[in-house]
Amino acid sequence: MSTVSVSAPAPALRPSRKTPPPEISATTPPLTPPLKTSALPDENIPVDIDIPDNYVQHTIRTTKPLPPITLSNIWTEVNWLNFVILTGTPVLSIYGFWTTKLYWKTAIFSIVYYYFTGLGITAGYHRLWAHRSYNASKPLQYFLALAGSGAVQGSIKWWSRGHRAHHRYTDTDLDPYGAHHGLLWSHIGWMLIKPRRKPGVADVSDLSRSPIVRWQHKNYTYLLILMALIVPTVVAGLGWGDWRGGFFFAGAARLVFVHHSTFCVNSLAHYLGETPFDDKHTPRDHFVTALVTIGEGYHNFHHQFPMDYRNAIKWYQYDPTKWFIIVCKKLGLASHLKSFPENEVRKGQLTMGLKKLRKTQDLLQWPQDSNDLPVISWDSFQVQAEKRPLILISGFIHDVSSFMDEHPGGRHLLAKHIGKDATTAFFGGVYDHSNAAHNLLAMMRVGVLHGGLELEFERAIPPSQKLRVMRANEVGSPYASSTGVVSDSESGDR
Ligand SMILES: [Zn+2]
Ligand SMILES: [Zn+2]
Repeated sequence: MSTVSVSAPAPALRPSRKTPPPEISATTPPLTPPLKTSALPDENIPVDIDIPDNYVQHTIRTTKPLPPITLSNIWTEVNWLNFVILTGTPVLSIYGFWTTKLYWKTAIFSIVYYYFTGLGITAGYHRLWAHRSYNASKPLQYFLALAGSGAVQGSIKWWSRGHRAHHRYTDTDLDPYGAHHGLLWSHIGWMLIKPRRKPGVADVSDLSRSPIVRWQHKNYTYLLILMALIVPTVVAGLGWGDWRGGFFFAGAARLVFVHHSTFCVNSLAHYLGETPFDDKHTPRDHFVTALVTIGEGYHNFHHQFPMDYRNAIKWYQYDPTKWFIIVCKKLGLASHLKSFPENEVRKGQLTMGLKKLRKTQDLLQWPQDSNDLPVISWDSFQVQAEKRPLILISGFIHDVSSFMDEHPGGRHLLAKHIGKDATTAFFGGVYDHSNAAHNLLAMMRVGVLHGGLELEFERAIPPSQKLRVMRANEVGSPYASSTGVVSDSESGDR
């Protein structure tokens, strides 16, 4: 969800305004006032205002990606600015570790500065500007804009435009860091190499209207140098005389950690973990990802509910960015924290739970259903019961030969009911059998007594089938009327 590029964004697609406005006769008043587009600066018009309905498929089909990277073209295809920053800072850090003594004050300050600049990205760039998940006061916006500049991931506007495209076109070629291109690509490859395709259209006209975003975009290069290197060096230098440590540890090494922390949201968070809310796309939830990304690791939730100020919804999950936003609210610096309705969040969890249960259900063996069994008359039942031990219970005829010696109540109780209706005895008359006993009995079905099921429909359903997971396109099944749950109608579950 980030980049180190400091260049201005590529010119975004502008809506065409070539069509002249329809002529309105003097006698017919217009239904709606004509758009005063000329009065608005270009940046205030959403870039996707005229987007065609088949934009995604059409763009992927009709625009050619740049050729794949080979040994012969790699030199011209590398994004050298990003390359130098992303390889230079680790080299600088390693040199610093070799040549500079690490004082504990500098070590602590580096960790604090890591969280400061990291929060600039997570609470600022990401949750405030890219997703508008809360409102921030001016002081908080300046704080986050400065902090985020120190993370060297491009300006707020540039970053948010890419991130909005990531959400809008997840797992397609219009996603600037699509996880479907592999872990290395989504982590860092997409920044080291020139984009193979222009990211899909994403509107940031709301950000263009923000004076603070505009100020940060305009002065980004200076703010970057100031916040990434000068401030940490000066704080450690003036604070406790460790100029060198401030530069190498709180400046360079801290920057490497912040970079890869954010990059993990694009790579690891689309690769490692569970999908508790939806499995349509690659984003996943994992504690380890949360730990290394200042709480952005509950990415499955985040892609489902991107305007929610939280990533983690449970109190014990690690989401310091959420805690930071809550503290800001308590201090009066943040307001209008958005959270998705709990009812809808739980629906996603239920669907995923049902999918898991459906898998378990499909792995089990189930009794034959009445449509697959022969219908037998009472007389025929009598004749066949002479040859093998058949017992009638709630409309179904069961062959109990394999169970005669296993019956906990003794063989004699079964023998006594061969060729008879044992429904009353089974359901409490002699013994009120357990659910397990009823489930097992159903596995011994060999036929249906003619006219028998109509009378005993309710008691004929074994307990294990009274509540089942079914897809919407399966409700025509014989047990549809008695099931409590219906799953999705997707043809293929993952
Ligand atoms: Zn993502
Ligand atoms: Zn996001």
